[in-house]
Amino acid sequence: MTTGRHFLQVPGPTNLPSAVLRALSRDVIDHRSPEFATLTLEIMSKLGRLVGTNAPIVIYPSSGTGAWEAALVNTLSPGETVLVPENGFFAQQWAKLATRLGFGARAIPGDWRRGVDADLVASTLKGDTERAIRAVAIVHNETSTGVRSDLQPIREAIDATGHDALLIVDTISSLGSADYRHDEWGIDVMVGCSQKGLQLPPGIGLNILSRRALERHELSTAHRGYFDWSPMLEANRAGFFPYTPPTNLLYALDASLDLLLDEGMERVVARHDRHAAATRAAVDAWSLELQCVRPSELSNSLTAVRTTEDLDADDLLRVVRERFDTSLGTGLGQLRGRVFRIGHLGALNDPMLLGALGAVEAGLRSVRHVITDSGVAAATEFLAINDLGSDPTTDPPRV
Ligand code: PLP
Repeated sequence: MTTGRHFLQVPGPTNLPSAVLRALSRDVIDHRSPEFATLTLEIMSKLGRLVGTNAPIVIYPSSGTGAWEAALVNTLSPGETVLVPENGFFAQQWAKLATRLGFGARAIPGDWRRGVDADLVASTLKGDTERAIRAVAIVHNETSTGVRSDLQPIREAIDATGHDALLIVDTISSLGSADYRHDEWGIDVMVGCSQKGLQLPPGIGLNILSRRALERHELSTAHRGYFDWSPMLEANRAGFFPYTPPTNLLYALDASLDLLLDEGMERVVARHDRHAAATRAAVDAWSLELQCVRPSELSNSLTAVRTTEDLDADDLLRVVRERFDTSLGTGLGQLRGRVFRIGHLGALNDPMLLGALGAVEAGLRSVRHVITDSGVAAATEFLAINDLGSDPTTDPPRV
């Protein structure tokens, strides 16, 4: 039997703020009532404000994978190709899903240690003289590697080729933690979900569209039912859904959006940057290597850490979970056993992060990994020196 709280430090699902937990426990209301319509319309407006757009937003009762599928089946037709730079496990899975849905998926192979190369995207599109590629699918923050790709150069590179492929972006582990500007960066379809930076339980998938995406939707002949944008957009205009929506998750989304908008995305990003940097200070002290090799591409949502040859990452994770009551992310796909991932996104504060790093350090010592310097001490020092500054919105305390 354990006592105290389990530390959930996987890179999503994340810890939930108390305001979100309270919203989840509210009474369910009639989803055909005016009260519900008001809730939907407010959420749409707040989500748009969070990412800088007035574009239509589609909310599904689904996981992120549902939102991936929706982005593809609403914009492509059978046999059309999506270009997927393969910079990690999730990009690879997305490409596989496209194939299963009857689309062509063309990969640009990567070493899973760097972000998407905009020049390679451009040269591939230039070579596509028959315009077989109808969309480019990018994972903004690769949760399997802790690498974040810069979206603006990719947009500019696509534009410079004159190719009309849509730009579809998975922000599943960057939304609500990293900078994301939907209109300014010219994203055609954004794919998101609830259980990461939006600090909600799993269960909501998102697409945010562009005018071009809607035009392409009109031409798309892919089979779709549940994920069809058209009935959703039509019902949403009045604040309703074409099927039963996840009412309490929507209450929670509304509460979470209030927290994020009150704090301001600039500060939310700075908060995540600071925790990511403190985590890297710990990794450095442990003399372990990061999976991400380019400092400019380091994720602020999670840190993927490579283990030494003699240390199976899954053995370490087991010890950390069983003895120190802390869940960390496992290595995915080809990184299984070689990498572990520390999530530091969502509702997190300094003592929670230090507790999680303490569990990792205790785990490393238990598996007899030689540690000369304390990662916890290094992270503590970093946090002590690097103050985020006082938060004008914390009066009264935000929970
Ligand atoms: N894309 C990214 C970047 C992810 O991190 C995940 C899940 O962690 C997914 C897609 C799949 O989302 P879900 O597991 O919610 O279906």
